[in-house]
Amino acid sequence: MAQQLDSATREALVARVRFYRDLGLTEFYRRPVDPALLAQLAIAPEAVSERSNSTSNFVSVQEENPIPPRKHMPAAPEIAAAVPAAGRAAALQLIRDEIGECTRCALHAGRNKIVFGDGDPAARLMFVGEGPGADEDAQGLPFVGKAGQLLNNMIAAMGLKREEVYIANVVKCRPPGNRVPEQEEGATCTPFLFRQIDVVRPKVLVALGATAATWLLGSRQPLAGLRGRVHAVRGTQLIVTYHPAYLLRDPRQKKEAWADLQIAMKELGLKAPAKG
Ligand code: SF4
Repeated sequence: MAQQLDSATREALVARVRFYRDLGLTEFYRRPVDPALLAQLAIAPEAVSERSNSTSNFVSVQEENPIPPRKHMPAAPEIAAAVPAAGRAAALQLIRDEIGECTRCALHAGRNKIVFGDGDPAARLMFVGEGPGADEDAQGLPFVGKAGQLLNNMIAAMGLKREEVYIANVVKCRPPGNRVPEQEEGATCTPFLFRQIDVVRPKVLVALGATAATWLLGSRQPLAGLRGRVHAVRGTQLIVTYHPAYLLRDPRQKKEAWADLQIAMKELGLKAPAKG
């Protein structure tokens, strides 16, 4: 007998299907679902068991979810339904599993490790950078080199610990020579970033540098015109500031970056820790 889905579950499924379609996938392999993961995501096993027991493991997305095709690839998939806080780590792990040993864009050829993201899955503050550098590529973690040390200092100046925020990048594999990701690379990888944002649901997003700002806002504008104000992106507030690597090259801009972070702190209700 067909299982009736509640509207929230149905919305989450439709968002998932759109995400796959935006990646160009219209068929996928159905693996057995881990009941523990479903429990953490607050999805009843019965909601998937009927199709999981199907004799065919290949499911046409369009067959199951008749979403009209779009003429243009959107900048980002639809905002997914909220994941309960207790299920966010598991939801992020599902996204990581979906990425797998990704070869969807050319950047896979030169990488050592995929840099998925790191931090509190229910963080109120999320930073988005451009892409992994050499240290990040070697360790599989974002912002662990010199720029990462500066970012850690910026986070501490806000009165937070690194473990209390979430950090990710526009692309998850290192661009050769640390170049800016190509349009196709960003378009291929950012649906995963948008999914991460939708799971974490931070109160404030901070775009570190022009590449992150461009992909999060869906338009290319000079950084100077984007800083100093609050933007609305994917149901959250976005602050734009300089990339820490740029601040290492031009430390005079640290004062400007601190002014940007203070806007984020105001939105978060944070006060800078007293100097002592
Ligand atoms: Fe896949 Fe993203 Fe790496 Fe490209 S950058 S290969 S889309 S994980």
